[in-house]
Amino acid sequence: MSVFSSRFEKGKLLKEVSTLGIGGPARFFVEVHTAQELQEVLLHCHTTRLPFFILGKGSNSLFDDRGFDGLVIANKIAFCDLSFPLIRVGAGYSFSLLGTQTARAGWSGLEFASGIPGSVGGAIYMNAGANGKEVCSVIKEVTYITAQGEVVCFKNEEISFSYRFSSFQQKTGAIASALFELTPSQIARQKQLEIIDYRTKTQPYSDKSAGCIFRNPPEGSAGTLIEKSGLKGQKRGGAEVSCVHANFIVNRGGATAQDVLALASFVSHVVKEKTGVELTREVRCIPFQPGDDVSS
Ligand SMILES: Cc1cc2nc3c(=O)[nH]c(=O)nc-3n(C[C@H](O)[C@H](O)[C@H](O)COP(=O)(O)OP(=O)(O)OC[C@H]3O[C@@H](n4cnc5c(N)ncnc54)[C@H](O)[C@@H]3O)c2cc1C
Repeated sequence: MSVFSSRFEKGKLLKEVSTLGIGGPARFFVEVHTAQELQEVLLHCHTTRLPFFILGKGSNSLFDDRGFDGLVIANKIAFCDLSFPLIRVGAGYSFSLLGTQTARAGWSGLEFASGIPGSVGGAIYMNAGANGKEVCSVIKEVTYITAQGEVVCFKNEEISFSYRFSSFQQKTGAIASALFELTPSQIARQKQLEIIDYRTKTQPYSDKSAGCIFRNPPEGSAGTLIEKSGLKGQKRGGAEVSCVHANFIVNRGGATAQDVLALASFVSHVVKEKTGVELTREVRCIPFQPGDDVSS
């Protein structure tokens, strides 16, 4: 038994660590605050064959109502070293705060991050983006710990990025920290303030959600297609298609993962019928048994 496993919490409710407010108990839950702790926990999982899930801020994750039958590792590596133009930051640092801090200091590149309620690690994993910008345009390198506990440094050009995709989605370890490179700008702060203002006006910011439920298809905006299909306000149990932004499913209270999945499935069915466009989910569905398929 490693020193760490004595710190594992049993039965932590995952709805407490997801912005949707949904999810049953984790068999085990632990917070890691340094890369060394992360490495130690991953090694423990490797040697004991304990399945694990890496959690950032839970703003793009839909947990199962039964919870997670393994260890949830909450990444809280939250240092931030601002040596402009370079920024080295822990994967558990707030991505939104990073966007605000850097713009306020007169540096451009991460203004779009302001208001995205994820961690730096989650943003890299998802290649998060907004306002025509994505993580991949400002990232220089990523420090990664493999599922076997090996520390690897990836340069930007060694990572595949595309719309809401990074090659970390095909790996099994965890992002520990990242290096960003920004450019000086007199208008960065103004731009960031405009972005946050627009966001709060156009998104259901105070409701529980996981952001956009569907990826934008090549045909255009998923939100517009859902709205045109007359689906705003549709409900399943406690889950509702937001009347503010149709690509958000919000938890109106007591929603289950099944409610969200049933509503999402209904929405994609109707959109396909009315517009011919196939929507695919952006939100990550975390099955109770790691490896299980979550198709509906
Ligand atoms: C109100 C709202 C607005 C949003 N707006 C946007 C937006 O404009 N643009 C956008 O792209 N997204 C948006 N999102 C979605 C979400 O915030 C982003 O996808 C964010 O990057 C997810 O980060 P997270 O830390 O919360 O990830 P989590 O939900 O914790 O995890 C998501 C995935 O990343 C993996 N992961 C997390 N951290 C690590 C790590 N350190 N190492 C390896 N894997 C990791 C997890 O295992 C999981 O598979 C929004 C969400 C909300 C609720």
